[in-house]
Amino acid sequence: MMKRFPALLAVCCAVLPVAALMAVPVAAQKAAAQTEMPTGAKVAPVAATQAKTTGMRSGPIRYVIIVSVDGLLPASYMEPDAHGLKVPTLRELAKNGAASAGALSVIPASTYIAHTTIATGTNPGTHGIVSNQAWDPLDKNQAGWRWYTEDIKVPTLWDAARAKGLKTALIDWPVTVGAKADAVVPEYWRASSPEDMKMTRALAKPPGILDAVVKRMPDFWKEFTPPDIKDKAATEIALYLIETQKPQLVMLHIFEVDHWQHEKTPWSPEANAAVENADAQIARVIASAKKAGTWEQTALVVVSDHGFTRYSKQVRPGVLLKEKGLVTMDDRNRLTDWKAVVVSNTGTAYFHVKDAGDEATKKTLREIFEPLAGKPGTGVGRIFTHEQIVAMGGDPEAYLCIEAAEGFLFTWGYTGELNSPARGPAGHGFAPDHKDMKASLLFYGPSIAAGKLDGARLVDVAPTVAGWLGLKMDRAEGRALPVKITAKRVRK
Ligand SMILES: [Zn+2]
Repeated sequence: MMKRFPALLAVCCAVLPVAALMAVPVAAQKAAAQTEMPTGAKVAPVAATQAKTTGMRSGPIRYVIIVSVDGLLPASYMEPDAHGLKVPTLRELAKNGAASAGALSVIPASTYIAHTTIATGTNPGTHGIVSNQAWDPLDKNQAGWRWYTEDIKVPTLWDAARAKGLKTALIDWPVTVGAKADAVVPEYWRASSPEDMKMTRALAKPPGILDAVVKRMPDFWKEFTPPDIKDKAATEIALYLIETQKPQLVMLHIFEVDHWQHEKTPWSPEANAAVENADAQIARVIASAKKAGTWEQTALVVVSDHGFTRYSKQVRPGVLLKEKGLVTMDDRNRLTDWKAVVVSNTGTAYFHVKDAGDEATKKTLREIFEPLAGKPGTGVGRIFTHEQIVAMGGDPEAYLCIEAAEGFLFTWGYTGELNSPARGPAGHGFAPDHKDMKASLLFYGPSIAAGKLDGARLVDVAPTVAGWLGLKMDRAEGRALPVKITAKRVRK
């Protein structure tokens, strides 16, 4: 998730101009949710495969463990040999589980936005986590991210599970500071100093949970120094909880793969080592559920939040806003007022207009960016209107959105160079239909049949899980995926 360089950015694909409305419009998603049914299932998977579940438990799955491997590319399990990957666990999941060759992410395809979609079954415009960083046009919040659960506008999977009396555990899952789960070790950092470990200890619940983990893993605090958290340490918390608390819903987020793909590009030796390490952590989770005696009734979901693409150049669109007088800066180059601001998400950038009735500023924004869209060398690929943004499930407060062209990313700020070399070799944050933004999605367990999942989206994960556990998620915009369940039903 690139916490240390939140402004780091990404890029786009083919330089397509405006039109090309990508992702499936929200209205169409809702229609799909109402019409899609599993085909000829002997054992109806998610009961009636409805987004709006009934709250009745009907299948053999009593436990769900969701492991998000941040930035994991579907090719890591679809074609591991092509990249020399030793990933026995992912291979097994892809072979004997229900696998997507690439699930549709969200706009922008970035960490906090996508994780909240996974957790709620809704698009960003509905759940409210529309970018990684908190809304902060005057830059007063020290680049703070959207860490706090209270900013999620719709119920989450853990809310729905708790409402049904199930035990829940959240480990390093984004946007979980303040989450009402039974066990929470939220993802949070501030100054990236040892002081942040104290905050982690203070926020972790139930109290003493991390002391118990240290007993199992004495070097835990060497491996858990926010925001640098090793996958092994985060996973150890999950193992402890699975073995001692047997939560019915576990949501674990690990992100060394994302880190190394940002730093060295996907398929670099470092990134491959991180993927192999993530594979080992997933194996540990399975072993832990077996040890706890819950595996036979467990469904494991391995998911990622976005893909990755390479870039070499960056564009700072804010410079153009300043040139046109849309922002006011003081003598230290700090923003003091604005008619329009840019919120960069690496592969895309949103523009917000302060006064909704300010047609002159809207016109100026269009005049700046429409001629650049799709023009070689500008770094701007596609451009999306407010209506298109809303139709894609993006930020309903944004007036305009641009996506970076192939080889480019968008960065923050209003001063400095308009064009410069990229600060890193690879990233994300593009529109979800970008050729490199597809996310990973695998379902696996003793009662899940092997199969391929076509057309899966991250917005479908929560309704699928909700169906298995009999949870009510009335606000979900995705649909339960037709994952086939093979085991006999157990007691109701
Ligand atoms: Zn991510």
